[in-house]
Amino acid sequence: MKIRKLEHSGIIIEDNGRAVIFDPIEIENSLPEYENIDAIIITHGHSDHLQMQDVVEVATHNPNAKILCPEDCLANFTNTNLNAEAVVPGQKLVVGDFNLTFFGGKHAQIFPGQEMCDNLGCIVNGIIANPGDSLDVPPLAVKVLCVALSAPWLKSHEAVEFINNVKPEVVIPIHDALVSRMGKEIYRNVLKKADREFRFLEPGQEFEF
Ligand SMILES: [Zn+2]
Repeated sequence: MKIRKLEHSGIIIEDNGRAVIFDPIEIENSLPEYENIDAIIITHGHSDHLQMQDVVEVATHNPNAKILCPEDCLANFTNTNLNAEAVVPGQKLVVGDFNLTFFGGKHAQIFPGQEMCDNLGCIVNGIIANPGDSLDVPPLAVKVLCVALSAPWLKSHEAVEFINNVKPEVVIPIHDALVSRMGKEIYRNVLKKADREFRFLEPGQEFEF
């Protein structure tokens, strides 16, 4: 399997030539025109994870791809011709050759007491987990863990504790478009306090596992 990082929290996970894509958004670069996508997974409806025109773009090249999102995100698709499906934490789905296990529930808190939107974490093929905008521990031991680098809901020490709890072999930071190049270095150095192997990928870079 391999993971290719896109911008911010966008990632593509490929296995045997097929792929699932998470949170595809275009910020500075155009999304590559992938035509091998079986599932488009939207972790939650915030604008740094869901831009409808970008989902339309991916779906146009992959008309048979399933679009999967949390329940409170489904309304975004009502007046479109996209066929989206709500999934809930605890649900398992087989899409193409991919085994998807959903976990989590809610977006991490930004303000204390604030009602937060739904957020889906997802484990792909039992090997790699993407918790979306949360520090929800995946229900299975995973080899590769995606972790937010910087976010309004995150203190870096919490990300380090999260990594130490999950104990993956490899950590891939995502959610990194909110900081400058200098900021990235600062946050990366803090994350490295977790005693794990890190792959710091820039958009377009891949890691095979
Ligand atoms: Zn976010």
